[in-house]
Amino acid sequence: MLGSMMMRPLRIADILTYAAEIHPTGEIVSVRTEGDIHRTTYRETSERVARLAHGLNAQGAKTGDRIATLAWNGYRHFELYYAISGIGAVCHTINPRLSAEQMTYIVTHAEDTMLFVDLTFVPLVAALRGQWPDGLKIVVMTDRAHMPEGDYLCYEELLEGQADSYDWPEFSEETAAALCYTSGTTGNPKGTLYTHRSTVLHAMMVGLGLPAALQPGKKILPVVPLFHVNAWGLPYAAPLTGASLIFPGPALDGESLFRLMDTENVFSAWGVPTVWLGLQGEIAKQGRIPNGFGDMVVGGSAAPASMIRDFEERGVNVCHAWGMTEMSPVGTQGNLPAHLEHLSMDEKVALKGKQGRRIFGVDLKIVDEDGGRLPHDGEAAGELFVRGNAITSGYFHNDEASAAAFDAEGWFGTGDVATIDKDGYLTITDRAKDLIKSGGEWISSLDLENTVMAHPKVANCAVISVAHPKWDERPLLIVVPSPEGKPEVSELMALLDEHFAKWQLPDDVVFVDELPLTATGKVSKLTLRKKYKDHVLP
Ligand code: ADP
Repeated sequence: MLGSMMMRPLRIADILTYAAEIHPTGEIVSVRTEGDIHRTTYRETSERVARLAHGLNAQGAKTGDRIATLAWNGYRHFELYYAISGIGAVCHTINPRLSAEQMTYIVTHAEDTMLFVDLTFVPLVAALRGQWPDGLKIVVMTDRAHMPEGDYLCYEELLEGQADSYDWPEFSEETAAALCYTSGTTGNPKGTLYTHRSTVLHAMMVGLGLPAALQPGKKILPVVPLFHVNAWGLPYAAPLTGASLIFPGPALDGESLFRLMDTENVFSAWGVPTVWLGLQGEIAKQGRIPNGFGDMVVGGSAAPASMIRDFEERGVNVCHAWGMTEMSPVGTQGNLPAHLEHLSMDEKVALKGKQGRRIFGVDLKIVDEDGGRLPHDGEAAGELFVRGNAITSGYFHNDEASAAAFDAEGWFGTGDVATIDKDGYLTITDRAKDLIKSGGEWISSLDLENTVMAHPKVANCAVISVAHPKWDERPLLIVVPSPEGKPEVSELMALLDEHFAKWQLPDDVVFVDELPLTATGKVSKLTLRKKYKDHVLP
């Protein structure tokens, strides 16, 4: 028997309408590409979003159109999220760090009709637009005074003279709202097409799962970009809960982030570990944390235990989260429940080094090579599969990739190898393709990296596999020394020796000035594997 409650479809536009009414003074502060700081509120933003939506319609935009963005974290990008999805079109965020070839592939594959670009990316667009579909309208996200030469529309002119309210259309909650491609480290990028339903549910799931910062008046700094994985859902979860957003613009180095957090009194900052390494350096230099800083969310790749300890000892609550583009993206979060808050620092760091527990709406299973379920005992490691309310059911216009991504029960294969313990804590052992198979036994590159990162003279490191005639693969350790100087190889080996069996230790250590990063700011092991393919192990 069906129940008899109203079936109101979930719509993204309702989040901002709600915020404008209930959290009208919630702030959006942006470091602009024009060079200054811009301040606005959810109430003002909802009016500008209405004007932008009318402006989009005036340009002929309609339901189902894919409208792309190539932009940093700022208020205009936020407005596009709401105006595009509000009219029933699809906001296709493009990662500007993708290669020219990948960018052209996705603009063509998505069949974008319009592209909104920040001033910074105008030269990039000018160089590539000849290869993009004819008729693609390009709008520069600035005012008339800052417009570049060329065949471009002006963002602020699109809004001019438009009404500041909009009667948002009703449509199925399964209508497509946003499109994000993975960075395509293997093969062409693959698109995840989010629905209104998945996006609104994910915003609620994140609000419930990570409640420390998502409160009226709390200030959150999303360093995680709006151009990838929906900035972990913050553009939706923040207005929904009344938290304010502080958008950092293009400068993401430690010094710029410290200054912004300090002056804006940011409470919570969200981003990948490489960004926090930069902030850690600045904190060490200044001898203090930024004003008001009390909480951080770190994910996208594994947060080293040494980083977690450093921030925790300075009084910053560290929440280690895990997720994927295909999951909207948040899957797990690592805030400790109240009954564990008394733990010693060592115990806390050990628990927070794990990737946390699933948020509501995400189911996890680990399986062996035949697809058989493995126990959640913290020991058995297998490929991690997920299912849930905000998880992809197939890649956008890509049947081949979709067919390979799901198991017979319809669960999505993450490509990560993990353990889950009896309390539900997930530990990512490695990405399946980054594991090192030596003499038939697996070695986790993440575990080795985590230990090496604890050495004071290590700024960053990566462990990759190198081909070996006898053992198939052996680990190679690549280290970026810290400004304090270069560690001795013997010191690093002695440190590893305390935690690992002899056969798991790296065969060689290479020192470099920096590590290559992927388009999403993670260490690019693919680039490293290519570079050290012919490295001769001693
Ligand atoms: P890409 O960067 O390849 O476009 P995603 O941003 O969706 O894709 O990355 C998802 C992957 O990032 C996960 O499958 C996992 O391997 C890795 N990842 C994300 N968070 C963590 C974490 N906290 N610890 C370890 N790995 C993580």
